[in-house]
Amino acid sequence: MTRRVGLIGKPLKRRHSPVMHDAAFDAAGIDGRYVLLELDEDAVAGAVDDARGPDWLGLGVTAPYKRLIAGLVDEVEADAQAIGAVNNVVRTDDGRLIGFNTDAPGFRVGVERAMGRSLTGAAVVVVGAGGAAHAVVFACLDAGARRVTVANRTVASAQALVERFATVGSGDREAVGLGGAAFDAALGAADVAVNATTVGMIDPGVTIPVDALRDDATVFDLVYVPAETPLIAAARARGLRASNGSEMLIAQAAIAFERWTGIGEMAGVMREAVAPLLADPTVRA
Ligand code: NAP
Repeated sequence: MTRRVGLIGKPLKRRHSPVMHDAAFDAAGIDGRYVLLELDEDAVAGAVDDARGPDWLGLGVTAPYKRLIAGLVDEVEADAQAIGAVNNVVRTDDGRLIGFNTDAPGFRVGVERAMGRSLTGAAVVVVGAGGAAHAVVFACLDAGARRVTVANRTVASAQALVERFATVGSGDREAVGLGGAAFDAALGAADVAVNATTVGMIDPGVTIPVDALRDDATVFDLVYVPAETPLIAAARARGLRASNGSEMLIAQAAIAFERWTGIGEMAGVMREAVAPLLADPTVRA
């Protein structure tokens, strides 16, 4: 019996996940496949029910269904509840479906691998207040960041995000707009500056003025297509250590694969498998 994991979303343009997971199935000697389930909303509940069957290991979930899925599974883990998004589901041996979130641990591991530093004790500026920023801010506060500044074009969303995690961690936190004295001051004090917006992927711009950062600050861009985003290019031109979101992508895939199969340490296999796609300038997000 071929075991399956299905990615539910719409539209599904990305090819990175199937490449990473199928390589890991092969390397682990598991008869398994990662399939794309591009579904309209009224078909999602049926697909989730199907995934209770013994041929399924679990599901991946992407936009726009990360909230919807939470109401269709049997249990949602605490981190995913706090963040407000389920991006993976694991099927237990008795057919129960448990929703979890890999964005937060994936970000933490991605920063550790790509930047060689931990979030503990760090002053972090997170630009963005959407789904990814929720996971990033949660990860920073949960890991013991000293200070987290959430900066967003729509300040009210940044404020709501900060309030949502009022009881997570003990670091200082604030919400600011993009631009202005408070944003500049936070950048000047930051150890790590994170772009958690779609800018650099869809929009050609840069959300973080790298000249405002200290010489020893590091820059982490969640965007991984294109591989060198305008922000990464600007940070490197300024001599700063900078990384795109590819290590976060790989870390998330490895965490999910371990939950589905019990087999860890697949990041290397996945990194090698996805490298050509990540390096291909014709692959769009
Ligand atoms: P989202 O929920 O749609 O949030 C979009 C965010 O971008 C909002 O904060 C929005 O600000 C901001 N934004 C959009 N256009 C902007 C502009 N022109 N100027 C300033 N801010 C702008 O998106 P998401 O799901 O959080 O994803 C964000 C990015 O993270 C995407 O590029 C995604 O690919 C990436 N991501 C990467 C990984 C990884 O593993 N590497 C994982 C998850 C996500 P407003 O609130 O003002 O609209």
